[in-house]
Amino acid sequence: MSVRCGIGYDLHRLAEGRKLIIGGIEVPFDKGPVGHSDGDVIAHALCDALLGAAGLGDIGTHFPDTDLKWKGANSLQFLEYARKLLDEKHLAIEHVDAVVILERPKLGPHFPKMREALAKALRVPAEKIHLKAKTNEGVDAIGRGEAIAAHVVATLSL
Ligand code: MG
Repeated sequence: MSVRCGIGYDLHRLAEGRKLIIGGIEVPFDKGPVGHSDGDVIAHALCDALLGAAGLGDIGTHFPDTDLKWKGANSLQFLEYARKLLDEKHLAIEHVDAVVILERPKLGPHFPKMREALAKALRVPAEKIHLKAKTNEGVDAIGRGEAIAAHVVATLSL
């Protein structure tokens, strides 16, 4: 068995009047990510981690933000698309580990639903998706509540 790891990172500014979509679900909050799509940082970083591990470029290659088709898009469809590309290369998802960085709100209570949504899009058991959240201790744009970011590592096997 050959094992491959991929890393992904994403950041979006937060603004009032946008839904806070993270990990494929809506989290109740007064701000949300500004973006061409729904701005789901976990889905975007995860998509990049999967594509990176498979040697298939990045999310911008496959879903350019200049394409009107992806305006307001549900980012879970990016994951479904990435999963199909992995299937074609006979690559299986072994594990996903993610960390989301944002000041507020607390994400822990929402993790079970996020894992379920992400696992469904990737067609893997939810046990293969691990999520963690950190604050930025009040430092920088994330610490001031102006942005949200995520780092994801994905492990695939051939
Ligand atoms: Mg993004």
